[in-house]
Amino acid sequence: MIQLENLSLSSSTSRSLRQYQAEVDGEPDFPSRVAKAKKIWPSKKQNKPFEEIKTKLTTMCAGAKRCCYCEDSAADEIEHIFPKNIYPEKTFVWENYLYACGPCNGPKNDNFAVFDLQNGALMDVTPPRNMPGKPPQVLTPPKAGDPVLINPRKENPLDFLFLDLKDTFHFIEWEDDETTRSYKRAEYTIELLKLNTRDLLPQARSEAYGDYKARLAHYIIRKNNGAPASELAKMKRGILSKQHPTVWAEMKRQQDKISELKALFDQAPEALEW
Ligand SMILES: [Zn+2]
Repeated sequence: MIQLENLSLSSSTSRSLRQYQAEVDGEPDFPSRVAKAKKIWPSKKQNKPFEEIKTKLTTMCAGAKRCCYCEDSAADEIEHIFPKNIYPEKTFVWENYLYACGPCNGPKNDNFAVFDLQNGALMDVTPPRNMPGKPPQVLTPPKAGDPVLINPRKENPLDFLFLDLKDTFHFIEWEDDETTRSYKRAEYTIELLKLNTRDLLPQARSEAYGDYKARLAHYIIRKNNGAPASELAKMKRGILSKQHPTVWAEMKRQQDKISELKALFDQAPEALEW
């Protein structure tokens, strides 16, 4: 997961979102706001303003419209980072959207947790499911607190996560101390999105690593052979539009500690800025 570029919406689309949100916020109490959000979301997201929203979200995606969480599968669902069933006031808020894939969106669903404002304890605010297979009935607002899930729209996930490029290709908590908020946020995010255990994601990251190295090596050969700038620019674009951009970001961050990478980046130091 990498931090997403912050694009803004046109004023007309922003205005439409505010109008849709006002319909939700105008309901008299919390359960009816949740019900309203759930009811109008499916039709509103078919409306014209969402064409712009989907285009912008696609631009923000990794590679060819890859999921912003796992960076592997096709991103085909607008994901509410704060679930709309718990936070109906964020149903039509641009900063609450990203493009995700079904395998990420499904397990995440209405799962959410916050750090208690008073004592800092991690509190699960996921609504209980009273009937198996039925959506939960959300009757009260969640306890107030700071979100635990890492939010790639607002913060750099690599401040919390470290990708092991040497062996497992698993995400690891950046912070060693298990009692810190940073550690708990990383642990919660890895587990909720099943980033290390699902769909052979570590294998896909390992393959991406090999491909990034091969592309960089090829770039260096062409550069040393005097290839035109347009060809080198195209090779750079090829690297930057691949899926699993976290692997590339980690290669730059860890190149000092991995001799094979150091040798490559020493010959193409400009790539450290890509
Ligand atoms: Zn995904």
